[in-house]
Amino acid sequence: MAEPLFNRLCLVGIGLIGSSIARVAQKRGDIAKTIVVTTRRAETLARVRELGLADVVEPDAARAVEGCDGVIFCIPVGAYADAMRHIAAHLAPGAVLTDVGSTKGSVVRDLSPLLPAGVHLVPAHPMAGTEHSGPDAGFPELFEGRYCIVTPLPDSDPAAVEKVKELWRRCGSMIETMDPITHDKVVAIVSHLPHLIAFTICGTADDLAEETKEAVLKFAASGFRDFTRIAASDVDMWRDVFLNNREAVLEMLSRFSEDAHAFGRAIRRGEAGFIEDRIERGRKIRRSLIERKQA
Ligand code: NAP
Repeated sequence: MAEPLFNRLCLVGIGLIGSSIARVAQKRGDIAKTIVVTTRRAETLARVRELGLADVVEPDAARAVEGCDGVIFCIPVGAYADAMRHIAAHLAPGAVLTDVGSTKGSVVRDLSPLLPAGVHLVPAHPMAGTEHSGPDAGFPELFEGRYCIVTPLPDSDPAAVEKVKELWRRCGSMIETMDPITHDKVVAIVSHLPHLIAFTICGTADDLAEETKEAVLKFAASGFRDFTRIAASDVDMWRDVFLNNREAVLEMLSRFSEDAHAFGRAIRRGEAGFIEDRIERGRKIRRSLIERKQA
């Protein structure tokens, strides 16, 4: 077995993503010698103890990060600045600070100014998840065969960047490197916009059900059901994603709205060719995802 990457690794927050990292680290044994977990609620910490997900459970984040050579933020992106203010002075010199947040521009904005000298910030985003949350929801295979996007800063220490990449390789992920702005645009279209549409379509159906007093949900077994799975996602996480990737989401929403209007116009005008072309493009994209084993 390879040497553990980290001597003492602290997970700040432990829901779906944090607990999946803890599980894969425990299963492999070559990610961290000691796993420290901190989170804000006593109930979650108690559950972490019951599940045996950590070697050390510490309610105070500042004490938890002391002496750690690796720290991973696994909390909603809107909570980063407060968490960083609380722990910054306690981070060990030479430590690697990374995260799993779904937005990257905001992470650089919120963490960089508070970063103590000698601590290396290397943001990352595992492109893996489910609609479930909390420490019970995680599983060690979550990241297997999925991409992890690493967004180093121009002055990031190369050894720290390599360490974060190796962490994700050991979690089973494929690594892509991007700048934070490109990352935020990419995820706005592949993840944030689909969630926006899912949350909206559920609201529209619910309004319709109220207006017509019809049991719309009785017939949900058609395409609607797939949207409800996405729409079941965590409120805090998704509120923070939309508020912290505002520009990119609004840009993609505006492009999407134009395209949706064009589709509507084609329906009104009876332009069968246009409609067939859109459906064919959708089918082609689905086929290529299956070929890339990302379906
Ligand atoms: P989760 O299961 O809901 O767990 C969230 C964790 O953050 C819990 O430990 C919770 O603590 C803590 N937390 C919540 N609000 C907080 C606040 N205001 N201040 C401090 N701690 C807070 O979330 P998750 O799905 O693991 O997501 C964690 C991060 O991963 C997010 O940044 C998200 O954008 C990113 N991500 C998520 C997915 C996904 O599909 N879920 C995929 C990729 C990346 P308590 O339980 O103690 O309250």
